[in-house]
Amino acid sequence: MVTVVDKTAEGTKLRSRHPEKAHRPDTPVLRKPDWIRVRAPGSNVYGETEGIMRENRVVTVCEEAGCPNIGECWSQKHAAMMILGDTCTRACAFCNVRTGKPGPIDPEEPVNVAKSVAALGLNHVVITSVDRDDLDDGGAEHFARTIKAIRKYAPGTTVEVLTPDFLRKEGALKVVVAAKPDVFNHNLETVPSKYLTVRPGARYFHSMRLLQQVKELDPTMFTKSGIMVGFGETRNEILQLMDDLRVADVDFLTIGQYLQPTRKHHAVMRFIPPDEFKSLETSAYSKGFLLVSASPLTRSSHHAGDNFAKLQANRRTMVR
Ligand code: SF4
Repeated sequence: MVTVVDKTAEGTKLRSRHPEKAHRPDTPVLRKPDWIRVRAPGSNVYGETEGIMRENRVVTVCEEAGCPNIGECWSQKHAAMMILGDTCTRACAFCNVRTGKPGPIDPEEPVNVAKSVAALGLNHVVITSVDRDDLDDGGAEHFARTIKAIRKYAPGTTVEVLTPDFLRKEGALKVVVAAKPDVFNHNLETVPSKYLTVRPGARYFHSMRLLQQVKELDPTMFTKSGIMVGFGETRNEILQLMDDLRVADVDFLTIGQYLQPTRKHHAVMRFIPPDEFKSLETSAYSKGFLLVSASPLTRSSHHAGDNFAKLQANRRTMVR
């Protein structure tokens, strides 16, 4: 999800940010094609967004994952917030979020996040988190508290959660669903054959079942999932994954290009050209998704507010 390959002082930064990756051999870095070009950060509104985040001590996935869309999103005051701290207990091969032993949960975080949502004036907000395998409930209660705080401080804002998989956290999913987010997102990230190398701490069928259970618990809740492409997966594997998601009754699929954070992360095996994304989008729609976003710079939270409005409109059209 990241644009920057950190060459200067890479060793030092990796040791502090991704200690488990520091000993790995370097992977080759492919030159980015012309179609991966983004707006540079730096507008006045970007500065205002940054100020609100700092003032409320809110962590954002936009910054932690080094998202390429930050210049565009923050210039419109669209920020995706990350709760449960800034340190992840997993060590996925694609992700730039800091890994290690996290500190205690900040009890003020739900209210601080909610105040930021109100200050930004967001119609729709995406709340995600690091993985917290160290917590008994995986952080589910904290998600629920954050949703409730947003309902209180920003009652006009719709809420989308992008959760971890809550692997081996009995009852955690029910707690988040009971807090009634408007959209429940859990990203599969990649096709099953790549899990061992890309997402080794996770299980494909557990993630798929999690999405299916959301719909069983609340059939009215919109469900969403996303993958990155460029890990060496085949088209047929992506089509199979789409079929699996439809069996789980998932409404919305996002597909974006994987970008390599550092030389120690998984290599980009291929940059998928825009016309292939278009073709995947067409195939996904033919399988019955309510909404599909597939492009090189698609990210789960990119244009999430506009996409939520489209989801609602498309459901209304289908129900008639
Ligand atoms: S796409 Fe999502 S993560 Fe990236 S900058 Fe925009 S809101 Fe943040």
